[in-house]
Amino acid sequence: MARAAFNFSAGPATLPEAVMRRTQEDLLDWQNTGMSVMEMSHRSADYMQLAHEMEADLREVMVIPDNYKVLFIHGGASLQFAAIPLNLATSDDTVDYLNTGVWSTKAIKEASRYTNVNVIAGGETANPTEIPPMSEWKFSDDAKYIHVCANETITGLELQQEHMDFLFAQGKPVIVDMSSNIMCREIDVSKYGMIYAGAQKNIGPAGLAIVIVREDLVGHARDITPTLLNWQTYAGFESMFNTPATFAWYLAGMVFKWIKDVGGVKAIAEVNQRKAEKLYSYIDSSEFYENHIAVDQRSWMNVTFSLTKEGLDAEFLAQSKAAKLLSLKGHKAFGGMRASIYNAMPEEGVDALIEFMQSFADQHA
Ligand code: PMP
Repeated sequence: MARAAFNFSAGPATLPEAVMRRTQEDLLDWQNTGMSVMEMSHRSADYMQLAHEMEADLREVMVIPDNYKVLFIHGGASLQFAAIPLNLATSDDTVDYLNTGVWSTKAIKEASRYTNVNVIAGGETANPTEIPPMSEWKFSDDAKYIHVCANETITGLELQQEHMDFLFAQGKPVIVDMSSNIMCREIDVSKYGMIYAGAQKNIGPAGLAIVIVREDLVGHARDITPTLLNWQTYAGFESMFNTPATFAWYLAGMVFKWIKDVGGVKAIAEVNQRKAEKLYSYIDSSEFYENHIAVDQRSWMNVTFSLTKEGLDAEFLAQSKAAKLLSLKGHKAFGGMRASIYNAMPEEGVDALIEFMQSFADQHA
């Protein structure tokens, strides 16, 4: 039996069906231990093996070099907004941030509490629909690092490889919030200073963040840094200084195995590209729907669109829900609709959405 519906939520988001079924089977008795994975000590041999496998699988799927630490941290991506300046800068230092939308703005606001933030470009509007042109980016000479949000989840505005290459060329550690596009395509981790992501989109359940950080950037936290915000604490204790989010780790570990099973990030990226291209080309071909994001900067993961006829949003949402296409309402800050089509969204989900959109348009022609 397939799942009851396709869930287009931006996060927490749909997880792979195979993973959810396996979780269901494991729930009362995981690997003949007589208990659920969420009921056992994180120091037990069984759990330690799970933790080691999870890290090894993530290293394999993302091709993470040995000189990078992989940390599993509580508190989601937002806690890293504070951890980053506390680990990498003093209150007198300067750091560079690009502002491409709401999530960049939140990171900037938090970093500004601890250090001096230079905004490279952007910030004129809350929800820009294009990346500021690189010719206008103003880096500071002495920035400790450069921070960007790779994919603005609310609008579906995604930085492109040319932007990343320009950032890497500055010769500073490049710190990237990949909460909503981690593992959606292959990347060269060795070019980054630090990558972080909240788990609840492409990784697993909420409450966990993954931090991938070049080892020379660990160990410089300010004295006042809370122990649990200091990356060294996680690096030194295999992310088990205190009790980790054990069930979230288990589920994330299964998602990494699922990625391997379906052919790795490369294979997933091919499907992701196809899903996104299909949906955007349908939107572009229809007079009933429109997408407002610069065409060559559209996200593969969060596809936003609005109805060109006014007053039909509520009906669109009610009918799509009845058709078992869930959570299509856009973020209130941007309005309209948003279909989040993360790694775990099957291509059939996108096909079903397009079919529904067409029948809704026909109904209201
Ligand atoms: N960054 C981005 C790009 C996000 O989409 C989100 C959550 N939607 C966050 C950061 C914040 O994540 P968390 O809720 O895990 O703190």
